[in-house]
Amino acid sequence: MTKIDLHAHSSVSDGTESPAELVRQAQEAGLDVVAITDHDTTDGWDEALKTAADIGMTLVPGIELSTRHHGVSVHIVSYLPNPHDPDLLRELAEIQGSRSSRAERIVNNLSEDFPITWAELLASVPAGSTIGRPHIADFLIAKGVAENRGTIFDDILHPKHGYTVPYHAPLPPEGIALIRKAGGVPVLAHPAAARTRGTIPKEVLAELVDAGLFGLEIEHPENREELKPVLYDYANYFGLQVTGSSDWHGTGKENRLGDGLTKREVLEKILEEGTGYPIALTV
Ligand code: AMP
Ligand code: ZN
Ligand code: FE
Ligand code: FE
Repeated sequence: MTKIDLHAHSSVSDGTESPAELVRQAQEAGLDVVAITDHDTTDGWDEALKTAADIGMTLVPGIELSTRHHGVSVHIVSYLPNPHDPDLLRELAEIQGSRSSRAERIVNNLSEDFPITWAELLASVPAGSTIGRPHIADFLIAKGVAENRGTIFDDILHPKHGYTVPYHAPLPPEGIALIRKAGGVPVLAHPAAARTRGTIPKEVLAELVDAGLFGLEIEHPENREELKPVLYDYANYFGLQVTGSSDWHGTGKENRLGDGLTKREVLEKILEEGTGYPIALTV
């Protein structure tokens, strides 16, 4: 069996390990294929592709694109878009800029009650990384305010405390259309993650399908078990493909590489449709 994990983060966004280390650990975990899908950036691709070629793995370059629907963050994990597509680059730059000013606002809010300043936080984030709440969490952990990212997300960074503010992101159908236009293959990430109330309503999913959605990431460790049958029904109804992935963040999350797996025939379809950055399956 080809072991394929299609969602993992490096330190180019909010993972704790470098792109090269991501690929090495994927091989140690017994995977044949891994995707690098950092938030809103393709900056890790070259390093990951080179390491994969060196050690004999297949690396699928991707992005986890941030979108927003009625105030709820919707992630579109996307494979093989052209990383030089001007419209995609413009949108990524806009999201990055907004993430940065939003992080600054969150840090300023926190600085009234916690030992943190924007200058110190920025100095703690690898240059050029897509910034997010995990970096703020790591900073507070280093200061002894909490033990791990999970406790901070449940507590201080939870929107109910008022420190966290949103950032700009396109609407989900816009994001999906943008990825397709760049030759990429868009999949709705973790559509029934534990923290969300339920799963995406069918009529909203219909709009995403119209916009070009390829699949649903059903085999994801954070999707609620009891909602998976609903998601499989949706996949059947709309003719969507099903993927499986770990959403590994190094030591930043409990998810281990290989915690979700994608079928080889689904990956083969992704490689067929992903014309923005064609790659070959080497395993
Ligand atoms: P942001 O990009 O600022 O919206 O933060 C969202 C990121 O934080 C996602 O990539 C998640 O993987 C991560 N995240 C969310 N909740 C948790 C948690 N409880 N523990 C660790 N990471 C989390
Ligand atoms: Zn993340
Ligand atoms: Fe996500
Ligand atoms: Fe992710």
